[in-house]
Amino acid sequence: MKIPQILFPVFCFCVAFSSFAKEKEVDGVTDKEWKDVLTKEEYRVLREEGTERAFSSPLLNENREGQFVCAGCANPVFASGSKFKSGTGWPSFYEPINEKAVGVKEDRSFFSVRTEVHCARCDGHLGHVFNDGPEPTGLRYCINGVALSFVPEGEQD
Ligand SMILES: [Zn+2]
Repeated sequence: MKIPQILFPVFCFCVAFSSFAKEKEVDGVTDKEWKDVLTKEEYRVLREEGTERAFSSPLLNENREGQFVCAGCANPVFASGSKFKSGTGWPSFYEPINEKAVGVKEDRSFFSVRTEVHCARCDGHLGHVFNDGPEPTGLRYCINGVALSFVPEGEQD
């Protein structure tokens, strides 16, 4: 491809800008750095809003007291006290550990409108929240176990 000389600086700028734009950065962590620190499955769920296979998470049967933290940045997101057996195949909670721990946004993929839930610190995708949960909130946070790490009570720093 021959580029007219006068357009060459514009061309260079566009190439440089597009490669820069691809390198999404969250809190100073680049996409490449996430790939280095996360497993393939963690990356697919946390950074690409993937969903793990139902009933695949060992955290489904985690019944000890403690905190569930974001697998990406260790931000505490759910407490064991709000975990309940939903039978859906994904770890389920009726509320986050506090109001600031998670963020939500509308998700219109898969021909439906769902409410996406992500870590408020690193933006990592955690799962979705639905209105068919138990008391006291009536909410069901349906969370990918691979997006969480469990820290048993007494082992927090
Ligand atoms: Zn996080």
